[in-house]
Amino acid sequence: MREAPSTERPRSVTILGATGSIGRQTLNLVAEDPAQYRIEALTAFKRVDELASLALEHRPKIAVIGDDALLPDLRERLAGSGIAAAAGRNAIIEAAARPAEWVMAGIVGAAGLEPTMAAVQRGAMVAFANKECLVCAGDLLLAAVAESRAILLPVDSEHNAIFQATRGARAADIESVVLTASGGPFRLQTLDDMARVTPQQAMAHPVWSMGPKISIDSATLMNKGLEIIEAHYLFGMQESAIEVLVHPQSIIHSLVRFRDGSMLAQLGEPDMRIPIAYALGWPRRIRTSAHRLDLVEVGRLEFEAPDLTRFPSLSICRRALRIKDGAPTILNAANEVAVAAFLDGRIGFLEICLTVENTMDAISNRTLDSLDDVLAMNEEARCRADEEVQRLERRV
Ligand code: NAD
Ligand code: MG
Repeated sequence: MREAPSTERPRSVTILGATGSIGRQTLNLVAEDPAQYRIEALTAFKRVDELASLALEHRPKIAVIGDDALLPDLRERLAGSGIAAAAGRNAIIEAAARPAEWVMAGIVGAAGLEPTMAAVQRGAMVAFANKECLVCAGDLLLAAVAESRAILLPVDSEHNAIFQATRGARAADIESVVLTASGGPFRLQTLDDMARVTPQQAMAHPVWSMGPKISIDSATLMNKGLEIIEAHYLFGMQESAIEVLVHPQSIIHSLVRFRDGSMLAQLGEPDMRIPIAYALGWPRRIRTSAHRLDLVEVGRLEFEAPDLTRFPSLSICRRALRIKDGAPTILNAANEVAVAAFLDGRIGFLEICLTVENTMDAISNRTLDSLDDVLAMNEEARCRADEEVQRLERRV
């Protein structure tokens, strides 16, 4: 890690995935104290109207839309504003490579890998929300961090909690980390019930309001499985030293066990603005208008072990992490395809994990030495997972 990140203000900021749940909450924090920030670039995929409105409000130097066909719309909306417009996958990568001191990696899925890598390679402070990037190319990203001396700032609430609780700690003193999980909307349902749930029911997370993909991942607990892999990369923990604890209130965002028997936790309202603010202000803390936690009002904090039978995703992710090489890349790609197929009504809820498992079994694992290797494996696994989805569809 670089010793002294700049605390100069205004801080120049780029937000990849500005129209998403994480991107918007980041911009909300910027709007709470706009003099502290200067926006370099905002990117989005297809929601051109929203991107243009955000650009007109926050005045980046450039706004980039992923879908090339939407460039004329973006140009028209930004005409006369002095804000440059660009489009396409390469333009998003170029936006990430522009010299912003701080970058929010807020794109969902492996689609965020190349832009996030571009920000890492130029040594930026990278706020890491896009966990799929670390899952599918963790070793390559960490090698790039070591070379460029970029700073990775964990944004996922659990990893941000661990980041806070281990600040100043010696690695040798940390025995394990404990990721908390709300348990999702189906924590108390039977497997029979779960076989019939609709995308709407699966999207209705009991605690957090998030984008569609992570909402489904939270319902299958695949999100927690991906977070085990994320924790391995962010904190250098072995798979066996990463525990999962179901905590339905989502007040304790994660814990760390130290070798003297102490545990440290970070608590807060379930509000992503808090971990985003920790990254946005780093190394300082910044004020937020997040609701202050009232533990008397909360009254009770509950904990239980995860049910590994109803939620096989945790074991699938642990297996992928133990195997390593391309296994986490295959897992992530298959899950992205399966979640999209479930949201489109093509497969049932329980078939998400089945698709992932079958795809992992069908592809031979190999070492991935470059970003191109990862992208090729990602594509291969997506195609194989799609075949699996078609097979399941025909069975119905
Ligand atoms: P979202 O679906 O709300 O937003 C995703 C953003 O990525 C949008 O701006 C979209 O335009 C952009 N995007 C999607 N596909 C793209 C593509 N192919 N190319 C370029 N841009 C693309 O998702 P979200 O909930 O904000 O999640 C973003 C990331 O943060 C995910 O990796 C998620 O796991 C992680 N995360 C989210 C939360 C949360 O509370 N939402 C919490 C923890 C971690
Ligand atoms: Mg999380």
